[in-house]
Amino acid sequence: MAIKAVKGTRDILAPEIRNWTEYEDMARKLFRRYGFEEIRTPIFEYTEVFSRGIGEDTDIVHKEMYTFSDRKGRSITLRPENTASVVRSYIEHRMDLQAKVTRLFYIGPMFRYERPQKGRYRQFYQTGAEVFGSSHPFVDADTIEMVVRLLRDLGLSGLRVDINSVGCRECRPGYREALQDYLSGHRDSLCEDCRRRMESNPLRVLDCKVPGCRAVVEDAPSIQDHLCDGCREHQEQVFRFLDLLGVDYRPEPGLVRGLDYYTRTVFEVISEGLGAQNAILGGGRYDNLVKELGGPDVPAFGWALGMDRLMMVLGDRKLYEESPSFYVLPVGKDLEYAVQTALALKDNGYRAVVLAEAASLKSGLKQVNRAGGRFVLLAGESEKEKNVLILRDMENSSQREIPAADLLKEIENEIKK
Ligand SMILES: [Zn+2]
Ligand SMILES: [Zn+2]
Repeated sequence: MAIKAVKGTRDILAPEIRNWTEYEDMARKLFRRYGFEEIRTPIFEYTEVFSRGIGEDTDIVHKEMYTFSDRKGRSITLRPENTASVVRSYIEHRMDLQAKVTRLFYIGPMFRYERPQKGRYRQFYQTGAEVFGSSHPFVDADTIEMVVRLLRDLGLSGLRVDINSVGCRECRPGYREALQDYLSGHRDSLCEDCRRRMESNPLRVLDCKVPGCRAVVEDAPSIQDHLCDGCREHQEQVFRFLDLLGVDYRPEPGLVRGLDYYTRTVFEVISEGLGAQNAILGGGRYDNLVKELGGPDVPAFGWALGMDRLMMVLGDRKLYEESPSFYVLPVGKDLEYAVQTALALKDNGYRAVVLAEAASLKSGLKQVNRAGGRFVLLAGESEKEKNVLILRDMENSSQREIPAADLLKEIENEIKK
């Protein structure tokens, strides 16, 4: 039996892949405009990077990581997200000594053992950005505006930015306690996971999608009533800068995000076209993580965007321009003339494929038809002798003879038709 791709993984094929690469090009160009540099970390790390970086009591670390022992018995994990890896790299390379503020972005695959469902894969792709070295609220707003612009440039509408503060080390413990008190009064209405979370990380209960939990959460105390002056000021400034940058946002007091490491700002961008699982990206500030992973005391802000879902939202929309392909048909054994013709086209930026294996005119045209190609250039011996080519448009089966010397001019006219 033929071997298939591993469950939960997939091949990304043409034409879909063209949207992916075009998107990646656009993202890279845009991020550089904002002063970001790309970083490529390994797709696997010592397991500790993630267990310490993401937090032991998260679904990711608990049950979704691809962890294995290498040949020397060291515990290795395929990255389930990239922030922890980027922080590890930032610390390892002492980037804090090279610049006051470091702006990095990444694009690449992540791995989580999740139940496969629509738009969710076990190898999935993320684009992310991280800024190290500034606790200034402008950084939050600027980095959010960058990704909102990217989505807008992709032609997406129906986007919503939900934003909240999850407080800091000073004010969160008080909130946590208040929340825990409230939740313990509704213990019986919570799902099994939330009863556990209630003890270890009660804020995560606010994120639960189970209807019973959502009902309980509705009347839960709000973090907004517990923010310290510093966090409140930070939040107001972020809003002010978002206004200044022209970003529409909606304060969402119930938003906390699943990960332990967030401090102050958290946000999500929601696409209304995605249904219940509708956040395409999310992130926030994480002022303590670098230090917790053994680095200097450096504040940070970042987000990660799910590319698989983004591509779903894009649907049939094409990010790339469909450029015509030219199929050059030798008609006969001598390929020389066809090869030269194709080279001239490629030299001038056109896509040109020599149909070397076409045994006859008929089989050549059949190949082109099957590939959905439009233009064919017949470059056989008789054409060579007369220094001409025959340009055939498959769309209407018309063809005409053109002087070889006018090739570029003629096809330009043809494409414009
Ligand atoms: Zn605070
Ligand atoms: Zn729950």
